[in-house]
Amino acid sequence: MSAYDTDLFVIGGGSGGVRAARVAAGHGARVMLAEEFRMGGTCVIRGCVPKKLLVYASRFAHEFEDAAGFGWTLPQPPVFDWPTLIARKNAEIARLEGLYRSGLASAGVEVIAARAVLEGPNAVRLLPDNRVVTARRILIATGARPATLPDVPGVEHAVTSNEALDLPQLPRRVVVVGAGYIAVEFACIFAALGSKVTLAHRGDRLLRGFDHDVQEGLAAAMAKQMELRFGCGLRRIDRTDDGLEVALTDGPPTRADVVMLAVGRVPNTAGLGLEKAGVAVGPSGAVAVDAQSRTSVPSVYAVGDVTNRVNLTPVAIREGHAFADTVFGGRPWTVDHAVVPTAVFSTPEIGAVGLTEEEARRRHGDVLVYRAAFRPMKATLSGREERMMMKIIVDRATDRVLGVHILGEGAGEMIQTVGIAVTMGATKADFDRTIAVHPTAAEELVTMRTPAAP
Ligand code: NDP
Repeated sequence: MSAYDTDLFVIGGGSGGVRAARVAAGHGARVMLAEEFRMGGTCVIRGCVPKKLLVYASRFAHEFEDAAGFGWTLPQPPVFDWPTLIARKNAEIARLEGLYRSGLASAGVEVIAARAVLEGPNAVRLLPDNRVVTARRILIATGARPATLPDVPGVEHAVTSNEALDLPQLPRRVVVVGAGYIAVEFACIFAALGSKVTLAHRGDRLLRGFDHDVQEGLAAAMAKQMELRFGCGLRRIDRTDDGLEVALTDGPPTRADVVMLAVGRVPNTAGLGLEKAGVAVGPSGAVAVDAQSRTSVPSVYAVGDVTNRVNLTPVAIREGHAFADTVFGGRPWTVDHAVVPTAVFSTPEIGAVGLTEEEARRRHGDVLVYRAAFRPMKATLSGREERMMMKIIVDRATDRVLGVHILGEGAGEMIQTVGIAVTMGATKADFDRTIAVHPTAAEELVTMRTPAAP
């Protein structure tokens, strides 16, 4: 008879928590999981999945335009209905949520619809009924939520990505604040669907941390679809008879039906009882963990966005899996956060893995940069003004590929495959002896022979 009610108590039913719960249960642990909202977390309910469905919807607009060059005549203008899209998106999310629930049930995990807060190193309190459950191990997997800008008057009129995914109508005019993943993805969705979009960013480049050729190529492509205002913040928002009047720190005010803040995300730790259990947080308010996702309290672990390591769904899933194998499966392993392929579902899309050119030069000194910028084949008949960019960064001393960056259609799909090679430590010679697949855009990745001039 165990001294605890359960072996593992997971707080949060998102990607990381659910994977950890299922794997731990598979190792024979008794597992309970509390979720206060809907199962699936940000990724399924209000992140990756619904966003990608909206991306697909938005890109039909370009496809319809391009079709004429291939001989098609379509009714003009094609008719789009936002409420239909949102209803169908919501039905798909409900289906996925059901799969999460049934997966946990068949793994033997007890799911509790309640908010759970830490009560001590081995106890959680379930709200609102105050039941206390004791656990040998506790896993915090509460994710993150959109940050806001509290100092801006009228900011309560703005929405975040949470609400943007469920607007009752497609807004005619949208101001997006920020230039990270979420800002560029949503700006491109709204623009392609027909909204007039202004993206306001305090900095002078989109997507901090991405390779500069990618940043510049994306900015050039987005500038054809919307207004980009750099070096420009949000000053205030006023509601008027004609929607929202949006004052920016630079340039004239603009009118909008929706102002969307995409200024980062903050770990969900407020009111979680971390102090009560003695769990330390880092400078950004994230739960501090070691390589094995263990917090300052030996019985308490944390995975996913709440730890603010690499805030991506597949990383949270890996962290949850590693935790469960290590603690309950007797198979210790850790997640390598160094090489993480990633995609930004802007239009055009971005795929990136490994180091940017700037990082590579800083860390490795002597690097070779291979770059191809070209008009994709489809654009020849569609007439779309479109450039694709691919870049490979190679360590001159070892020939090892340090980073690959792609801008253009299919970049996300390509980078997943390239990510295998880069993770394996492929050299440029390995890329060169790989036979091209023709005619594809991706063949450029194995046919770049001459490095760009430094
Ligand atoms: P990011 O951290 O990517 O970007 C935040 C943006 O907001 C930056 O442009 C930043 O500017 C700006 N910003 C931050 N603070 C302020 C402020 N006070 N005033 C004005 N602007 C500000 O956050 P996101 O919200 O876009 O996304 C959060 C995370 O979610 C991402 O980092 C990513 O890990 C994940 N995600 C992944 C996706 C994918 O895999 N496709 C899709 C969506 C999200 P600056 O550059 O100057 O700091």
